[in-house]
Amino acid sequence: MAAPKALDGLPVTALKGVGERVRQLLDKLHLHSVQDLLFHLPLRYEDRSYLTPIGGLQTGVHAQVEGRVELSEVTAKGRRALVCRVADGSGLLNLRFFHFTAAQMGKLSRGARVRCYGEPREGYYGLEMVHPDWQVLAEGEDHPLGHTLTPIYPLTEGLHQKSLRRLIEQALDLALNSSGLVDLLPPELLAQQGLPSLPEALRQLHRPPARATLASLKTAQQRLAFEELLAHHLSLSRLRSRARLRRAPALDLPAREAQRFRASLPFPLTAAQTRVIAEILADLATEHPMMRLVQGDVGSGKTVVAAHAALAALASGCQVAVMAPTELLAEQHHRSFSQWLNPLGVEVAFLAGKHKGAVRRGVLEEIAHGSAGVIVGTHALFQETVEFRRLGLIVIDEQHRFGVHQRLALREKGARDGRYPHQLIMTATPIPRTLAMLGYADLDVSVIDELPPGRTPVKTTVLPATRRPDIIARIADWVRSGRQVYWVCTLIEESELLQCEAAEKAAVALAEALPNVRCALIHGRMKPAEKDAVMSAFKAGESDLLVATTVIEVGVDVPNAGLMVIENPERLGLAQLHQLRGRVGRGPGDSHCVLMYQPPLSASAQSRLATLRETGDGFVIAERDLELRGPGELMGVRQTGQVQFRVADLLRDGAMLERVKSSAETLLDENPERVQLLLRRWLAQGEQYVEV
Ligand code: ADP
Ligand code: MG
Repeated sequence: MAAPKALDGLPVTALKGVGERVRQLLDKLHLHSVQDLLFHLPLRYEDRSYLTPIGGLQTGVHAQVEGRVELSEVTAKGRRALVCRVADGSGLLNLRFFHFTAAQMGKLSRGARVRCYGEPREGYYGLEMVHPDWQVLAEGEDHPLGHTLTPIYPLTEGLHQKSLRRLIEQALDLALNSSGLVDLLPPELLAQQGLPSLPEALRQLHRPPARATLASLKTAQQRLAFEELLAHHLSLSRLRSRARLRRAPALDLPAREAQRFRASLPFPLTAAQTRVIAEILADLATEHPMMRLVQGDVGSGKTVVAAHAALAALASGCQVAVMAPTELLAEQHHRSFSQWLNPLGVEVAFLAGKHKGAVRRGVLEEIAHGSAGVIVGTHALFQETVEFRRLGLIVIDEQHRFGVHQRLALREKGARDGRYPHQLIMTATPIPRTLAMLGYADLDVSVIDELPPGRTPVKTTVLPATRRPDIIARIADWVRSGRQVYWVCTLIEESELLQCEAAEKAAVALAEALPNVRCALIHGRMKPAEKDAVMSAFKAGESDLLVATTVIEVGVDVPNAGLMVIENPERLGLAQLHQLRGRVGRGPGDSHCVLMYQPPLSASAQSRLATLRETGDGFVIAERDLELRGPGELMGVRQTGQVQFRVADLLRDGAMLERVKSSAETLLDENPERVQLLLRRWLAQGEQYVEV
């Protein structure tokens, strides 16, 4: 089906005007092939197909005008600028240029006929346009207006709008005039979905007629988004169905043992926990590897659910690997699992980076020998030469730190004699429904939608930094009553060093202001062993106030710490703030979170903080986060390795997913040969999940 000059294989350098410098610039925008250029869509359009009489200009409304330069001078009043007065018989307009060359001055001299496009605004001497797009029209020649809207593309520094536009023009000509771009969606499917063909959609988007309606542009965009979502859906569902074909050891938890375990717990399970445990046990009992995601808000009690799964594995003679994103958290799991399972005669091993030499060899031996039933650690568990005797289950906590690919690599690694371990993934990051449908299409999802009883919701207050003295007084009271406090310092995430310095400073200042309070400090640049020591001391009640950076975001449980002050919360995203706040409200008694911001707040920061004050519901917060930030950032590359889209936007296009799903089935039935081509077109090479 692929034509000889397929545009996906044609490098951008095949186009006129692309030398090494431009190629590098395009590279930054991830535009490597001619096809990539075609899928690089405009941010917006400008209508330069008509002229507006100067007398009819409105401030703030972009417009195109044409007139004669009556006066051109460099003014020294205020900021030095070249000002040209242009008249068209209906009114006067000043063009103002703060940056200009002698050549420009020469062209824009008195008497020249100019056409320009820009945003008029009220200046000191009447209407003006600052740095409009302009051209001088040669006398005696015809200068017809365009018939199409002018697309404005996303750029990168050093690349000009006009150059990129010209390249995309060339790419479009190639696409429309050759057979290099194949429409992978069959006409019947397009007709059924009311979507245009690929060439039509591309023409509409890059070269829309001047009279194009918003609706027609939107339909064209949907055409591409639909195809992209379809590709992602197909790839993930393929992944899933292949996983279904794999074999796994069937794990069974005898009812008697389950009962014995429950009776040993200091609390009854919630209904939600019981339901999710049943879902997991049903999966484990089959001979195919479970791939299940357990979603539960912070504090919903995911660990004990995982312990049930572990018991099933142990009862069937298999080992369990429990993987946490940080050593601190791994240690906490080690403690929980030991506490619960040691009485049942299960040995729980802990493999940390800090274990070296003989200790490490000892642990590795226990794992290889099989005397360790449960092995807790960080992802180092799978990077190193750890040999399991018979691994039946992998539990991954706080999944948002691992991507699809790491997950798969893990499963491969645990395979033995054609049997693959089951996977249970736990996350506190609530995943909005649309994302769950797509980004996690290779997983089954269980939700713990209930908190253990007796938890009071965290009361959240939003205060400006000017109230710091009051907040400090409140900390003193709080500590006097025997409870503990977190003080979280935030800074732009990129700068860990600055963040640590800020925390160090805050710790010194707080220790000074609160002489009767035992202060401790924890930050990301401390060695794991130091961090662990500080955290364990805090947990043991040996310090009252823990000044921390966002390193405490994930999972550590100190029920007696019921007050958290977050400094400069406006710098963080909603999901992260929610996660941080989840550190309090884990014990009896009321709990509080004070968001101490630096005024003035931007509108979006205001809206984030208000959301936190109003709700503690992780799902509401996730939906709101998606609205405010968009899925790209929410499931950011750095964070997850989750899907990134070129055209689709789950917030805008999420409603299409149902239709995408049914079309995927039709396509698989009727045109299976196109599936591979779709994946190749839309997914990055490592994401095609083809050979899995
Ligand atoms: P998360 O879902 O955030 O990982 P954890 O598993 O750490 O939550 O549980 C938080 C706390 O709640 C722990 O101290 C745990 O022992 C406790 N817990 C779990 N389930 C229940 C329950 N059903 N009733 C009371 N406390 C519970
Ligand atoms: Mg947890």
